[in-house]
Amino acid sequence: MRCLECERELDRLDNEHLLQCSGLTLHEYAIRHHLPLDLLLQPDQVGSVFEVRSGTPRHPPGERARAVLQGLDWAGLVERGGDDVRIRGEVRRLDQLLWDLEQLADFGFRFRQSYDYSDETHRVVAHSALVAPAGFTRPALRPVPVPVPEPPPVFLDALAVFVAHAGDLQAGYLLLPFAEPAYARDAAQRLRRDHGVDCVALAAGGLAAGGSGEGALLRTAAPEDTRALMALLRERLAAIPDGWTRFNDAMPEATVTKELVFDAAHFITDHPAKCSNLHGGRYLLQVQVSGRIDPLTGCVVDYGYLKRIVNRLVVERFDHHTLNYAAPELAWRSSTEMICVFVWEQLIDYLPGLSGLRLYETTQSWCDYRGPTLAEYRQQGRSRLLDYFPAMDRRGDRQLIRGDARQLLSAVP
Ligand SMILES: [Zn+2]
Repeated sequence: MRCLECERELDRLDNEHLLQCSGLTLHEYAIRHHLPLDLLLQPDQVGSVFEVRSGTPRHPPGERARAVLQGLDWAGLVERGGDDVRIRGEVRRLDQLLWDLEQLADFGFRFRQSYDYSDETHRVVAHSALVAPAGFTRPALRPVPVPVPEPPPVFLDALAVFVAHAGDLQAGYLLLPFAEPAYARDAAQRLRRDHGVDCVALAAGGLAAGGSGEGALLRTAAPEDTRALMALLRERLAAIPDGWTRFNDAMPEATVTKELVFDAAHFITDHPAKCSNLHGGRYLLQVQVSGRIDPLTGCVVDYGYLKRIVNRLVVERFDHHTLNYAAPELAWRSSTEMICVFVWEQLIDYLPGLSGLRLYETTQSWCDYRGPTLAEYRQQGRSRLLDYFPAMDRRGDRQLIRGDARQLLSAVP
C-alpha cells in the first residue's frame, strides 16, 4: 500500500506513520484522499484503538487547564460516564480537539481515535475523543456556583473556549447553547455586569442542546452586543484553531429550507362562502434561513436545530388543533397570510437568519411571506395585524353605545 502523502510503499497505513509523515490522523487522511476507511485499514485494524498520552496529570491543575475544561463543560462537551471523562471531536474539529488536549495536559487527557465497523451505517467509522480517568477532573467539574478553594478560572478564558466550540453566528447574532440553565444565567449576568454585553435567554432554549430540554440558549440582544463580545474575546479566540476565523472570515452565503407538516382544522369567521364552515387539511410549512456558511460546521444552520425549533413553537401548537382556538391572534382570521405573520413572530428570536416562509393550505393554494428582521421586530414589536382582537379595549370608544343601550333598556316597560 502506497502512502499518498510521502509516496512510500508500506505494509499498512496507521497513525504512527501518518502523524510522522504528514501530521494527519488516519481519519483525516481518508477524507483528504476521499477513500473509505474500509479500504485503508487491514482487518486487524478494525476495532483497534490508537492512543496518545499528552503530559502528566498535575495537582492542582493550572488555571489555564481549568478554564478550558470549564468552557467545554458549558458547551456540554464533557461527557461523564463510568470511570472516564470524555470529550468528543468531529473530524473537522480535530485541530480544536488537539488544541484542547494540549491545554488540558494537567488533567492527564489522552487522545484516542478508534475505528469500528458500525451496523447502522454498514461501514467502518472513526471516532476521536479525549479521555481521562474521572478522578483527574473531579475537583474541577462541580455544579455552578462553584465553591472551589482555588479561585475560579478566568471567565473570559472559559467563555472564549465555549464560544469557539459551541457558538453559532446567525445574521449578526451569536447563539450560545449552554448545557445547563445555571451556566447560562451566570454567563449572562457577568457579561452584562462586567462587560456591558446584553444577552437574552430564549424560553425554549433546551432545544439547542439536542432536545434533552436540559440546556439553555442565550442570544446576543443585538448585533452591537455581538460586536462587543467579539472584540472582548478577539485575542483569545484567535489563539484557538478556527476560533476567530469561523465567525469572521468571508464565506459564501446560502439559503436552506426545512419543510414540516401539520394537520389542522379552521374556519374563516365571516367568509361569504363555504370557508366559513369548519374544515381541515394538511398544512405544509417551508421555513427558509439564509446566511453565511460556517466553515467549521459546513452549514448555515443545523437542520436538526431548525426542525426542533419549528416543531416546538409551531407544529406542536397547531397539529390536530383548530387554528382559530390555537392562538388568540388567529381567532378571527386563520388565513395562510395571518398564520405566516404569526409563525414569523414565533420563530424570529430563535432564527435571526429567517428569510422566508411558504405555507401551503392545499397543493393549489399557498402564501409566501417575508417578515421583519429581528432588529426591526425588536424595534417595532408585534404586528398590529395580529393584535386587533387580543389588544382590544373599547371601553372608551364605545361609551356612546353603552349609554344608549342603558337608555334603551330603561325605556323597556
Ligand atoms: Zn506517508
